[in-house]
Amino acid sequence: MNVLVCGGAGYIGSNMTAMLAENGHKAYVYDNLSKGHIEAVVPEAEFIYGDLADYDKLVRVIRDKKIEAVMHFAAFIEVGESVKDPLGYYNNNFCNTHNLLRAMDFMGVNKFVFSSTAATYGMPDEVPIVETLPKEPINPYGESKWAVERMCHFQSQTGRLNYAALRYFNACGAGRDSQLGEDHKPESHLIPLIIQAALGQREDIKIFGTDYDTKDGTCVRDYIHIEDLCSAHLLALEKLSTESEIIFNLGNGNGYTVREVIGTVKKVSGKDFKVTETDRRPGDPAVLTADSTKAQTQLGWKPKWTNLEDIVETAWKFHSARPSGYSG
Ligand code: UDP
Repeated sequence: MNVLVCGGAGYIGSNMTAMLAENGHKAYVYDNLSKGHIEAVVPEAEFIYGDLADYDKLVRVIRDKKIEAVMHFAAFIEVGESVKDPLGYYNNNFCNTHNLLRAMDFMGVNKFVFSSTAATYGMPDEVPIVETLPKEPINPYGESKWAVERMCHFQSQTGRLNYAALRYFNACGAGRDSQLGEDHKPESHLIPLIIQAALGQREDIKIFGTDYDTKDGTCVRDYIHIEDLCSAHLLALEKLSTESEIIFNLGNGNGYTVREVIGTVKKVSGKDFKVTETDRRPGDPAVLTADSTKAQTQLGWKPKWTNLEDIVETAWKFHSARPSGYSG
């Protein structure tokens, strides 16, 4: 298939582009490079510099490249930033997606794979989380993603859109032999931050809260390797030939505490560094783990990276080979 990968220069999009190419698809990366990295665009893909706000360009690209499906990773992802700039988040994450869907609709392209998030569940009452739990986001980031899911739902009911909404838990690690990893500026995700401490790039790693009701008092999250995340997208894409609405959680089902993740980075890197215990970060649920049974049974998907040490190893290889990130 000719697939337009919006945000294909970013962390998840670049790994997805690589996997599409490896599986016989032609990937066209559409990215404004506001967050992504041109070096992350794999050579098999064609890069198109473009903004999702540019409806005419989207229509032109979809027409000229004979696009048959769209995967959309071009969103803002910082919860804290979304609280400070809700309008910016709604604009990029919702309005620009609306633009993209309009362009697809105009051109008669009906397959859409959308990056959604566990943040749509807010503070869930139960874990592991199943897809049917209430969607009650607690920040503009989660709301902006949930709003897109609802828009897709109603559009799918017209019969003109087949979509997959994939709700990610904590994507991490590096794909394509550890060549495609996480490089956010500023970085806010736990594993790359700990690796920065291991590389001596920050004086410590801060643990946000040690009084949670978990086995060691720190938050539990479900860390899913980027290649497992992407392989589920590929399976979802295939399903869209026959199904109009598919919604899955994507996690590997194993929860790890912040302390366990820090211990794993220490072990993998062989480095010791300072760990500072600080207050809770507002809005952090104690435990977020996915029940991905639905994705496993309906897509035939099975995460391959179930061991945190193996996952961290790929991230460590990526960052230690490029201590300043892609631009370095
Ligand atoms: N976390 C932490 N210190 C940091 C960054 C994150 O203790 O410097 C914790 C955070 O509170 C959460 C977990 O690590 O419990 C994962 O956070 P991240 O921001 O990577 O992902 P989130 O689960 O918020 O999507």
